[in-house]
Amino acid sequence: MNNFSYVKAGTVAAAIKALSTKGASLHAGGTDLLGCIRDQVQTVNKVVSISGIKELMGVSAKPDGGLKIGALTTIAEIAGHATIRDRYGVLAQAAADVASPQLRNQGTIGGNLCQRPRCWYFRGDFHCARKGGELCFAIEGENQYHAIYGGGPCFFVHPSDTAVALVALQAQLRIAGPAGVKPVSVENFFVAPDKILVKENILAPNEILTEIHLPPVAGRMRSSYRKIRARRAWDFALTSVAVVLQYQAETVGRARIVLGGVGPYPWRVEAAEKLLAGKKIDAALAAAAGKAAAEGASPLRDNGYKVQMVQGAIEESLLALA
Ligand SMILES: Cc1cc2nc3c(=O)[nH]c(=O)nc-3n(C[C@H](O)[C@H](O)[C@H](O)COP(=O)(O)OP(=O)(O)OC[C@H]3O[C@@H](n4cnc5c(N)ncnc54)[C@H](O)[C@@H]3O)c2cc1C
Repeated sequence: MNNFSYVKAGTVAAAIKALSTKGASLHAGGTDLLGCIRDQVQTVNKVVSISGIKELMGVSAKPDGGLKIGALTTIAEIAGHATIRDRYGVLAQAAADVASPQLRNQGTIGGNLCQRPRCWYFRGDFHCARKGGELCFAIEGENQYHAIYGGGPCFFVHPSDTAVALVALQAQLRIAGPAGVKPVSVENFFVAPDKILVKENILAPNEILTEIHLPPVAGRMRSSYRKIRARRAWDFALTSVAVVLQYQAETVGRARIVLGGVGPYPWRVEAAEKLLAGKKIDAALAAAAGKAAAEGASPLRDNGYKVQMVQGAIEESLLALA
């Protein structure tokens, strides 16, 4: 590990200032950052900790009936929060499915959205395209865990469970930087590898994700998060699906279906969503929605199994919610 200096920022403004020099990296819970430094995924000469900034912690009600979640709120707190469990079940379930109890107690929601990819070439001793090299080694190499949607020139999958739920819920983010605070929808936060290859979101090095805003729940909404992983202990998603259904009487008014573990950012399947609008879910419709989502996939040599997983996970989620 390289030597680095350490700054514990007391305010967001102080953190932005400290992050404004080359080689500085933000530290929240540290569960991902320290692994990245150790594995030399990124070169860091200054670590700027925001972990003591109280205004970034906790969940509070908004005047419009929605919720504000500070970026330093732990994943455990989100998984156990009564209002989130009651109204935004998809997010509570996704948070409960993250890693292990220790990691959920230490890791923050901001860090979960900003964590780096888990691709073994990126994390390993390979100078891959995402690290400034010329090739994505997954194209010809071991690609069983890689992207089946949106891949190329790099085929990593976004590792965050909570991001998938937040896209389904149409959450809004607040980003603080030298020019002030700006709002951005979580859908526009992530970037595709064919647009920017070396980072996964729009943040500049001296910008900080400060808050996540959940819209108020209007009418009857049902939601769920289903995660498929290789083993029952902590593991990243092979495939996951977040579903949010807004009901009008017995039919679906509006649906959001978002996939995790299969693309470089939470992958919305609008073809499946459109099939559900105005209809009552039954076995045939659930199967058709799964099939519509699967039709958009482009698997690599060893990850074709994910296509069937997507199809089955959507079908099962819809039937369980209905
Ligand atoms: C063994 C293991 C298993 C895991 N399994 C899962 C899993 O199943 N599902 C899942 O979703 N995740 C999983 N994770 C990832 C884990 O959830 C993340 O490490 C954690 O959420 C990161 O939060 P943190 O506060 O520790 O972030 P840090 O490690 O402090 O930061 C992570 C990255 O985000 C940046 N960052 C952090 N906060 C902010 C902010 N507010 N604004 C801007 N940038 C920021 C940092 O600079 C750094 O690059 C796993 C991790 C490990 C080590």
